[in-house]
Amino acid sequence: MKINGKTKVCAIIGDPVEHSLSPVMHNAAFKELGLNIVYVAFPVKTGMLKDAILGARRLGLLGLNVTMPHKHAVIQYLDETESTAKAIGAVNTILNERGKLFGYNTDGKGAMIALQENHVDPEEKKMLLLGAGGAAKAIAFQATQETGELVVLNRTEERAKQLAELLNKTFGTKVTGRTLSAETLKEELETTDILVNATSVGMSPNVNTSPVPADLLHSGLCVMDIVYNPLETKLLKDAKIAGAKVVSGLEMLLYQGAVAFEIWTNCPAPVDVMKKVALSKLAEQGVRP
Ligand code: NAP
Repeated sequence: MKINGKTKVCAIIGDPVEHSLSPVMHNAAFKELGLNIVYVAFPVKTGMLKDAILGARRLGLLGLNVTMPHKHAVIQYLDETESTAKAIGAVNTILNERGKLFGYNTDGKGAMIALQENHVDPEEKKMLLLGAGGAAKAIAFQATQETGELVVLNRTEERAKQLAELLNKTFGTKVTGRTLSAETLKEELETTDILVNATSVGMSPNVNTSPVPADLLHSGLCVMDIVYNPLETKLLKDAKIAGAKVVSGLEMLLYQGAVAFEIWTNCPAPVDVMKKVALSKLAEQGVRP
């Protein structure tokens, strides 16, 4: 690609950012569409965030992705934050529009698009969401608006209940929050259509763990695991054996990136190209399908 005086810059900020897949995904996408934009990774330590955002503003960066540990703290430095991102308390994408910084959270949309792109229509369906952390919260906000029923199970019951309460207050829904246990899983899974794991259980190096006992999985389920290292988690392996449809965490990663790309460029993201480079980058890191 040609870098010249008109090249615009997007970046990811966080700590650590060295292993992020976003630079390869977005650079491939910019190249594919012939856009004069580059994407780089800036490690930003806690305590340096305010200066980093001021720098992005002053240097006129086009857009930012924000990752741990800054997703919450960054909100105070933005001019406007989209209502969902504000309610979740986490921004992962920033658009700089003529010096004004707008914050978004694309995780929830990314997860729901991932389901739809894999031919899973959530309308009128029951979703069982495992987890009540940052990613689960973002998915829950989107899923509440797109599914027929949502139940949240979390190891720390209080967090599941708090999330359900926040959703019900925001949307006037009847989301339930319960503890994550073999009993609640058994009860809920019988009537579940879509199971989403948004806990970190099963993530490398704990690849032989799953949040769901294998014998509770059934062929009527679609199972999405948002963990993408490994690409095929134990939960997804067990779900396949049970005859369920499976969607990997790479799909959510891809579509949350695609939504960010579209916010920055106003162009549809070339997801096939982004997926191809993400898979080869993961393979370089030893993560294989
Ligand atoms: P987080 O805010 O730290 O939340 C972690 C969640 O996992 C909490 O609900 C926590 O429950 C639960 N948990 C952790 N250890 C557990 C255990 N041993 N048993 C049961 N539950 C456990 O993390 P996050 O940012 O939401 O990320 C969660 C996972 O999603 C990570 O693996 C991350 O890599 C992945 N992720 C993927 C994408 C994607 O695009 N595919 C995007 C974001 C995140 P407690 O509340 O009880 O602690």
